Amino acid sequence: MTTRRAGERSIEGVHASPGLHWVGDGFRVAGYFSAIPGAMRRLSPFLLLDYHPPYVYSPSDRPRGVGVHPHRGFETVTLAWEGSVAHHDSTGAGGVIGPGDAQWMTAASGILHKEYHEREWARGGGRFHMAQLWVNLPRAHKMGPPRYQGLTAAEMGRVELADGAVRVRVIAGEHAGVRGPALTFSDVTLLDARVRAGGELTLAVPASHNLCLLLMSGEAVIGGERASEGDLLVTRNDGDQLVVRATEDAHALVMGGAPIDEPIAAMGPFVMSTERELREAVADYEAGRFGHLDLRRATPRDGRRGRRRARRPRASASPSAPR
Ligand code: MN
Repeated sequence: MTTRRAGERSIEGVHASPGLHWVGDGFRVAGYFSAIPGAMRRLSPFLLLDYHPPYVYSPSDRPRGVGVHPHRGFETVTLAWEGSVAHHDSTGAGGVIGPGDAQWMTAASGILHKEYHEREWARGGGRFHMAQLWVNLPRAHKMGPPRYQGLTAAEMGRVELADGAVRVRVIAGEHAGVRGPALTFSDVTLLDARVRAGGELTLAVPASHNLCLLLMSGEAVIGGERASEGDLLVTRNDGDQLVVRATEDAHALVMGGAPIDEPIAAMGPFVMSTERELREAVADYEAGRFGHLDLRRATPRDGRRGRRRARRPRASASPSAPR
């Protein structure tokens, strides 16, 4: 422990990586929130964090990934640091994101989509480093129209301090007067922060906002607690700033936002407000009311996996799969 400044948030929990699992055959991820009791309420508006630490994929003519699956009631946000990921959905939207880019996909009333390594990148293989975050939608927007935002590295807000000792990319929300490009349905702050050893980053955050931080690499003292690579820190709502003091070059994903104070009913890829709405989601999905996604875009093997995954989702207390 070190002393904290006045107004500096303290740390409620430090969570090491819960271990890696595969989503499809293309995403080797740690599902951090699954190890935190009540995470969907405690960390609202965030529902799930699948972190894909750097991992080298061998070259493959068949892009690895996850086949056709539905989502309703929330947003999936995919961030890329290394590698390249492609997406196609039933609204006809799609895109490829690479290093520094983000994909902000609003499922809202429902989409089918598939996520996989971009074909040309997959042929060469290489290091892949990504994260996917699920962001809840306020109930009033859960059945709104789907939306796709492909956000490029060049569009991100940038804040650089002390000759580059602190470099923050603002994806959503605001830091130091700089706004990120993402359009959101509630107050969300998403920052990609690098702090050199000896550097210090101070973030202003309303005390009412939930905020957690994933230290992707390096070491730092945060809210008076020592953190090392792979730790997720949940902050207490006891101050209006977060201070990151890097003791080794640190790279962190900062997730903050105003809690959405509404009931949550979650099952697999559906996150609604009531059990009845969940049953409707399953019924609509089974009746084909989530639209259509042309499997011919995929290779035959993608298609087989897609059909298998397109069956009724497993009931589950946490929306861990399919992603
Ligand atoms: Mn998905």
